[in-house]
Amino acid sequence: MRITILGSAAGGGFPQWNCACRNCSRFRGGQLRSPARSQAQVVVSTDAGESYLINASPDLRTQILSASFLAPANAPRHTPIAGVLLTSADVDSLAGLLHLREFQPLHIYATPSVRRSALEENRIFRVLNRANPPAIWQDFPLDTWFALTGADSQRVEAPIRCRAVPLGGSYPDYVSDGLRRSSGTDESIIRLLAPDEAIVGLALDLAGKQIFCAPALPGGSGAWKEWVRSSDVSLLDGTFWCDDELIAAGVGSKTAREIGHVPLSGPDGLLQELGPSTRGRRVLFHINNTNPILDEESREHREVRDAGWEIAYDGMQIEL
Ligand SMILES: [Zn+2]
Repeated sequence: MRITILGSAAGGGFPQWNCACRNCSRFRGGQLRSPARSQAQVVVSTDAGESYLINASPDLRTQILSASFLAPANAPRHTPIAGVLLTSADVDSLAGLLHLREFQPLHIYATPSVRRSALEENRIFRVLNRANPPAIWQDFPLDTWFALTGADSQRVEAPIRCRAVPLGGSYPDYVSDGLRRSSGTDESIIRLLAPDEAIVGLALDLAGKQIFCAPALPGGSGAWKEWVRSSDVSLLDGTFWCDDELIAAGVGSKTAREIGHVPLSGPDGLLQELGPSTRGRRVLFHINNTNPILDEESREHREVRDAGWEIAYDGMQIEL
């Protein structure tokens, strides 16, 4: 099994097109030691060459073209991409599906609520149904192992098993009140969107090797810690260094936690929450352009590395 991180930044990428924060400005001026980063995109590939995308980044077309192992193997049309696994209904998780609209049959895995948010709030994703056969949306069960379908339709089960771990958090702003509301009497509430289906982490297991991937850790549940401790590699939410980062940078009015990301530093921050010892590799990705860990000469970058964490970059590969 191989993990490829095609994009390591949070939404907006690094530098962000309209951002003149300290990091983005210093990068443009050649004063910041750090590579540019595209928006978060992870690919998990089997030894047989089948690849699964974790989310579909707004930068997906360029990211696929940058990865030779994702090129078509057969004429006239083919892709080694066997499926897309969605961890949320955020624009950054979904937008790249539109890059996959070239009449390619696809398996898209999501919680029922994320599928409903995507398809009922955004008619544009119906463009994926032009393929023959049309895109197949497959619902995740929560907290249950299930097998991913392989690209080869003759095979009943792909070798990768997947498990969705609910992480708490909320649905994106664009989701309408109509879809959010609960209806019915107290005895028979019909929830159109289930609260625990908003944001999940994904555990992937192949031949006894386990990956845990969580681009967003909203902090509503501590279930992720056990998954990190039992996994060979964990890819975790490195969006913000501190809780008031956006406010201090003058680019937002909400804290990191208010927009669904546990910060890395501080009391109850990710570094402290997990502690120093885990069995496997711990990699931070989905890094916001305001985060000082991007600067390889910063105190914060060194602190993260000294605590045993790796900081993802575009093109990073991990073999298991
Ligand atoms: Zn910036």
